[in-house]
Amino acid sequence: MGQVGVLALQGAVSEHLARLPRHGYEGIPVKRPRDLERLDALIIPGGESTAISRLIRENGLTKALRDFGRERPVLGTCAGLILCAAEIADGGGDVEPLGLMDISVCRNGFGRQKDSFETEVEVSGTGRDIPAVFIRAPYIVRAGRDVTPLAFVDGRAVMAESGHILVCAFHPELTEDPRVFDRFFRKLEARELKPEPCPPSKKFPVKTAAARF
Ligand code: GLN
Repeated sequence: MGQVGVLALQGAVSEHLARLPRHGYEGIPVKRPRDLERLDALIIPGGESTAISRLIRENGLTKALRDFGRERPVLGTCAGLILCAAEIADGGGDVEPLGLMDISVCRNGFGRQKDSFETEVEVSGTGRDIPAVFIRAPYIVRAGRDVTPLAFVDGRAVMAESGHILVCAFHPELTEDPRVFDRFFRKLEARELKPEPCPPSKKFPVKTAAARF
């Protein structure tokens, strides 16, 4: 069984940990750099990005998380999206983003607590009717060349992908719908193919190959 870490400093930690076995993974709480060692992937949950960022620094996790995200899949949800970003456009306060994805974010883009809402979003390549819970949600205001925005609400980008990093401004762990997690777990299942020793391929003379068309 693969092991997926959940950054367990503050926020929606238990919801993600409870969710993982349903997808066939063991959930491991991550509090210190050594907790990352054997993990296949990591989830940075929603919560309060200022608190999570302060605890990342206090627990000496900044470099370990940056190194992890260079090689292994990371899913950032809500405050986790803010932490994965390269830059915070509306003043991050004490938040030191990890720079795992080349995006700028507006931290409280959808307003304060009273502006929390639930809707359905169309996620490119995943589904048209993904239920999404937004709680003081951020949105993405700039995406680098390697970043693909995947979903929009009121014209604002709320989900994006770049290689093995996936971020969303909403909380997939608060709905029963598995599709955002499934999309993330496909990044773990994709393995690099090493060339296998095999007999040299048959080569046809150009004339024969041309004659087939
Ligand atoms: N806007 C919040 C922050 O700055 C994130 C809210 C959430 O994770 N639900 O941390």
